[in-house]
Amino acid sequence: MTRSGTNNHKKKITAAILLGSIALAITLFTTVADAAAPKIPHKPDISHPKGSSPWPDYGEKPKTNTPEVKAWVKSIDWSKVPKLPIRHTDSPGDPPECPEKEVPEKDCWWTCTGCFAPDDVFECPGKNEWGLTFDDGPEPGVTEHLFDLLKEKNLTATFFVTGMKSTKAPWLLQDTIDKGHHLASHTWSHSGLTTLTNEEIVAELKWTEKYIFDHTGYKVKYFRPPYGDIDNRVRAIARELGFKTVIWSTEWDTQDWQLAENTISSKQIVNIFNSALKTLPNRKKGVVTLQHDGDKKLVPMARTLLDMGMKKGMKPMSIAQCLNDKVGYNAVPALPAAPAPKKPTTPAPAPVPPASGVKQTGKAEPEVSTPTSPAAKDDKEEPISAPGVVKSTANPGKKSSASTVSAGLSVAGWTLAAVIASFVL
Ligand SMILES: [Zn+2]
Repeated sequence: MTRSGTNNHKKKITAAILLGSIALAITLFTTVADAAAPKIPHKPDISHPKGSSPWPDYGEKPKTNTPEVKAWVKSIDWSKVPKLPIRHTDSPGDPPECPEKEVPEKDCWWTCTGCFAPDDVFECPGKNEWGLTFDDGPEPGVTEHLFDLLKEKNLTATFFVTGMKSTKAPWLLQDTIDKGHHLASHTWSHSGLTTLTNEEIVAELKWTEKYIFDHTGYKVKYFRPPYGDIDNRVRAIARELGFKTVIWSTEWDTQDWQLAENTISSKQIVNIFNSALKTLPNRKKGVVTLQHDGDKKLVPMARTLLDMGMKKGMKPMSIAQCLNDKVGYNAVPALPAAPAPKKPTTPAPAPVPPASGVKQTGKAEPEVSTPTSPAAKDDKEEPISAPGVVKSTANPGKKSSASTVSAGLSVAGWTLAAVIASFVL
């Protein structure tokens, strides 16, 4: 080999090392950038179109004289809703008082008679299955700890959130889905539904559905009446609006909410749960429990109860999982043709819920509930397209754009280096 040939060879090696270093630097930089990439902030109210009524107030029953509520009321076949009395309460928002005279069987008023309708969900089909549910959130500083606990135990649960609480922490809705959990409705203002007018019930259910949809792209399917307060009038309205009612198994109300009120001790809750556990061997089916989000004391209690139940062979899971409902949400109508992607594919792709923080500002989402939407009248007849699944793979768009760009740059860096290096060498 000549000197110039050796020099040439050295130059080639130097160039290769240089290019390799550049590629490594690009990779390291983009990886670090990815790790350090801040979470894309959530953007509330993205799809609440201009001209819509404002979200209902915190702690208030939603108004019924808005165009939205009028349109939702109009979408219902009222011939399917029985004319039962509006139940009495001394304190609006609270559950009703049960009358002294007997409640007619046809009312199936759970609150006062414990009656379940055939389509009420109050147990899981499989023996030892445990429909794990947390009501009354989201609550910043508490819900995250429940997420941590469930992650530690590799479990998913259903979170029955209220619309009003969601307005205080809308990012926790998307987080619930991102963590692989199941979102469901607990109405807007947490009022006893049998004490409300038909229109008020519609407003409670639909505003909550809309709020959750606008912040996650998921249309909730399951709802739990506050206090379990439901009769056949409320059920029929919920059914007409596409909701499935979830109550809980008799004897499996943990009473944990009383911890926050200091009206019960942890030991008493453990005793209540122990009594419920004793019924397990005689149960052919699984159970649905009632637990709560919303107070820090409830998180260690949730841990205690999970440990107790799992020790007895119970298998905790979300309501959608125990019902083997692979989607867990109602179908969202297909996107309108105009903004569809340029390259049509066959079959048409199902609309995917927007990933956190990557919603399209200014474009109305496929919400069908507002009077501005052409599909507002009867979204139940729209073609069905699953918006996602319940498990951790629920949100295929979850990967941040930062990590996608990062991965792309890393690959591009190495490819570029390889091409140039092979050319030089
Ligand atoms: Zn509640």
